[in-house]
Amino acid sequence: MTRRRISGKYLTCLQCRRVFPASELEKERREKKRDIYVCPYCGSTSFTKDFSDVVLIIDPKESKVAKFLKIIHPGVFAYSLE
Ligand SMILES: [Zn+2]
Repeated sequence: MTRRRISGKYLTCLQCRRVFPASELEKERREKKRDIYVCPYCGSTSFTKDFSDVVLIIDPKESKVAKFLKIIHPGVFAYSLE
């Protein structure tokens, strides 16, 4: 049995900007038996592969970037969506 390697591929939720490894969304999709990817954080079904610059938000309350991007939770987010 061969395992398809999809590491190194990332998707960003268009609504909350959170960045996910494609493999994580794929796993979630299979577990929930869905046809499409759903963001586990905001429930959006819109994702993009086209983004540049990623920011790690550790403390959203203290972060100017988090305020600018309207991010309220810690995590890894896309700075600019294309
Ligand atoms: Zn989301």
